[in-house]
Amino acid sequence: MMQTDVLIIGSGIAGLAFAIKLAERKPKTDIVLVTKADRFESNTKYAQGGIAAVMDNIHSSFESHISDTLKAGKGFSNIQTVRMVVEKAPKRLQELIAWGTPFDKTSDGKWDYGLEGGHSVARILHHKDQTGLALEKALLQQLSRFKNIQFQTEVFATDLLVQNKRCYGAQFLDKNEQSFSIQSNITYLATGGSGQVFSKTTNPLIATGDGLAMASRAGAVVEHMAFYQFHPTALVTSKNPVFLITEALRGFGAYLINHKGERFVFKHHPEGELATRDILSEAIFKEMQKTGHDHVWLDCRHLDREALRSHFPNIILQCKKHGFNLFNEPIPVAPAAHYQCGGIKVNREGKTTLHGLYANGECASTGLHGANRLASNSLLEAVVFAHEAALSVASELKQNKTTAGFSGRTGSVSKNPVTTTVKTAHLKKALQELMYRFYLNKSLEMPLKPFGAEIDSLFSEIKKLSVYHKSSQSIWELQNMAETARLIINDTLYE
Ligand SMILES: Cc1cc2nc3c(=O)[nH]c(=O)nc-3n(C[C@H](O)[C@H](O)[C@H](O)COP(=O)(O)OP(=O)(O)OC[C@H]3O[C@@H](n4cnc5c(N)ncnc54)[C@H](O)[C@@H]3O)c2cc1C
Repeated sequence: MMQTDVLIIGSGIAGLAFAIKLAERKPKTDIVLVTKADRFESNTKYAQGGIAAVMDNIHSSFESHISDTLKAGKGFSNIQTVRMVVEKAPKRLQELIAWGTPFDKTSDGKWDYGLEGGHSVARILHHKDQTGLALEKALLQQLSRFKNIQFQTEVFATDLLVQNKRCYGAQFLDKNEQSFSIQSNITYLATGGSGQVFSKTTNPLIATGDGLAMASRAGAVVEHMAFYQFHPTALVTSKNPVFLITEALRGFGAYLINHKGERFVFKHHPEGELATRDILSEAIFKEMQKTGHDHVWLDCRHLDREALRSHFPNIILQCKKHGFNLFNEPIPVAPAAHYQCGGIKVNREGKTTLHGLYANGECASTGLHGANRLASNSLLEAVVFAHEAALSVASELKQNKTTAGFSGRTGSVSKNPVTTTVKTAHLKKALQELMYRFYLNKSLEMPLKPFGAEIDSLFSEIKKLSVYHKSSQSIWELQNMAETARLIINDTLYE
């Protein structure tokens, strides 16, 4: 069993930014940072459009960013949280720049602001169409400066160690699927989202809702799970995850068209292609149902080729890899699961309802997004809350120097020889398809009640499997996905 002052689970933007912030303030504090994948793999790595912030009062204002965020959130956002995030954004962005994030500038040296759906003005800083990758690189580079951070890859957190509503660390499987525990004064969950719960998602394979499910099993309050955001324009391919076509391309002037070449979205909303994601996803699902096609198209043929090449090189490349030339033909797109707006409830310092447990990033619910996240507000949320949590943890550690003792069983398991790969794959597919149908029915305003019984039955089948296979990462992930799915369905049906 290992002991540390602070345990961070997750190496996306929420985990890395917090580790750096805390290590800067507390160079003598032992920090262990773990990820179940390699150093880079995360939702963060795939972020395209960028990060929203008011960097000057000429282009935008705090009030307009606040108002756009609240409008997207449909009355479910917390106004104080929205104000805090928006007003603290410029300072946090300046830090990201100082840490080496290469946000694009125009030829006259000004920020090259992008525009995305739901934003009344262009206010998105980006690095071409691969902002997330640029951020991960810069943050990992900064992280390497600190001797007091121990970074472990391919370590999978299974459960939190919790006694009397206090968290004392977590239980893990190493890459040989052997169990061990890390005890800590502070545990910080930055485990990201859960898009893999659906059969079509933009999220990578790691996004299985692990942190959310762990926190929920441990008794932490989880909220707003009904609010799952679908992104309207994912490239239609036979694979999951699907490749995202950033909204910035619509901000740049691309049209959504149906099989007759008609721009149909104005029938649903006066802002057309720049309406928020929930409105566009619903409009596309309805158009697909009406026309009998399983997708619509995104048309870039009228846009300036040189400008497209310079702003969206990766999208052009990825479309080409899938056999589409976006200069000459409309490309097939359909909505896909993209972002978990709800999550583990935290206060404005990132504290959950369990002592010693913090959460940040996509696994957390801060009150910023409400029912629907405004584009490019999630990377921002993660850096702002990383800062707030680092201040809070630094002061907690000052008051409480010793590692708190956990007297419960940490449970060690050995490898189970029974192969269950086929069964796991079958149940995973059934779960993902059930959840996609659920979301489709919701968008088309069709009955949802039968999904309650369906998910309960699938959940108990998965639970049976997981009881006997505590040493298998893939079964833990499946169980976490099933728990997340149940939280989404129950929150939709019964709240
Ligand atoms: C294709 C795509 C494009 C996007 N574009 C944008 C954009 O332009 N702007 C924007 O603001 N947002 C965007 N988003 C959303 C944004 O990228 C994410 O919400 C954000 O990066 C989440 O950061 P995070 O640190 O919370 O989680 P992640 O970046 O997902 O990191 C999660 C980390 O936790 C680790 N982990 C998970 N479970 C375990 C476990 N059990 N044990 C150990 N480690 C674990 C993972 O390995 C990973 O290191 C996009 C998302 C996608 C998928």
